[in-house]
Amino acid sequence: MKILVLNSGSSSLKYQVIDTKTEETLVQGYYERIGQPNAFLTHKLNGEKHKFEYPAMNHETAIQFVMEKLTSEEYGVFKTLDELDAVGHRVVHGGETFKDAVLITDEVVKGIKENASLAPLHNPAAILGIEACQKIIPNKPMVAVFDTAFHQTIPEERYIYSIPYEYYKKYGVRKYGFHGTSHQYVSGRVAELIGKDIKDLKIINCHLGQGASICAIKDGKSVETSMGLTPLGGIPMGTRSGDLDPSIVTFLMKKENLDIASIENILNKQSGVYGISEVSNDFRDIENAALEGNKQAKLALDVYHYDVACYIAKYAVAMGGVDVITFTAGIGENSPFSRNEICKQLKCFGVEIDEELNNVRGKEREISTPNSKIKVFIVPTNEELMIAKETERVLK
Ligand code: ADP
Repeated sequence: MKILVLNSGSSSLKYQVIDTKTEETLVQGYYERIGQPNAFLTHKLNGEKHKFEYPAMNHETAIQFVMEKLTSEEYGVFKTLDELDAVGHRVVHGGETFKDAVLITDEVVKGIKENASLAPLHNPAAILGIEACQKIIPNKPMVAVFDTAFHQTIPEERYIYSIPYEYYKKYGVRKYGFHGTSHQYVSGRVAELIGKDIKDLKIINCHLGQGASICAIKDGKSVETSMGLTPLGGIPMGTRSGDLDPSIVTFLMKKENLDIASIENILNKQSGVYGISEVSNDFRDIENAALEGNKQAKLALDVYHYDVACYIAKYAVAMGGVDVITFTAGIGENSPFSRNEICKQLKCFGVEIDEELNNVRGKEREISTPNSKIKVFIVPTNEELMIAKETERVLK
């Protein structure tokens, strides 16, 4: 099937057309600054980037413009849109309503809107993309693929927070987890690489990008993950705090006289390795600063690596063992230094990586030594392919 994968942000739109038979991306693009007069599209075909400045004031105009490009002789991959089989939409939060990817109906749109209070920045954007497509290509089947769905198999005792139970009943306050399509893709892929049935493997996937989460996967199902009610929880990230003593929030609000928006901004945009290092949110800059002797940069990395290692240890307990650890996303795929620092702290579990094999960026490969008690792999993630495959599965 030829599937258009759409990832709608509040002022942006990412797309890929994927042929699920060959698993190939035929074309991809990124529309930025939607809603502003200086909106522009970067469209990539056959390795070449084409930039178009077109003032799309809303998602409908942007998607209409993208459709024109997809069917144009010079930049397109289709003669007509008849050749497009379906659309897969990335939706961040499915709450407890959506335990799996679903065919989009009016009822589903309503359900996604109802979950918007759990992801106020993300779900309304996905709705914009879905509703625009309903107008532009009303006859194409569309599927919603949720970041949270893969984690709906986490048992109750692991997703309930120790606060009054009434908040779970009233507002759905619980752990949901995110990056589900990435965790699902990487765990499935590493099972293929090892040549074993995923049901016979205990996998810990470390999705380490600007946003980061760790997931324990047993029998092919998520049984624990580090992000929580929102993508702010878990390990420290580029600018997000990760887990804290909750009283730090009220302590700082009192001391600094902060309102809700300010403390949310601090925890989401000014914390993490950026907050500790005061250098950058980009690990490349922090690694360079640490190498040049910046103590706070080194401290930020030390905190980060320690926390990732501790989560891995915790998830070994969650699964009663671990067969394979995978690294993915920006840092996981590209930082030999971070992988090494994390794995060093897992020596007590018999983890041993080969320095030469580890000295690589963005390659799919095993990096553990033959003696290592736990296999360690780098597996570049492919969330778009997973969304395309999920779309096909739902439609079939
Ligand atoms: P997002 O969560 O936005 O999808 P990515 O998975 O693309 O993020 O990760 C982006 C991050 O990856 C960058 O901010 C940077 O910190 C990190 N990164 C990218 N390349 C390298 C590298 N060569 N070494 C260390 N970190 C890297």
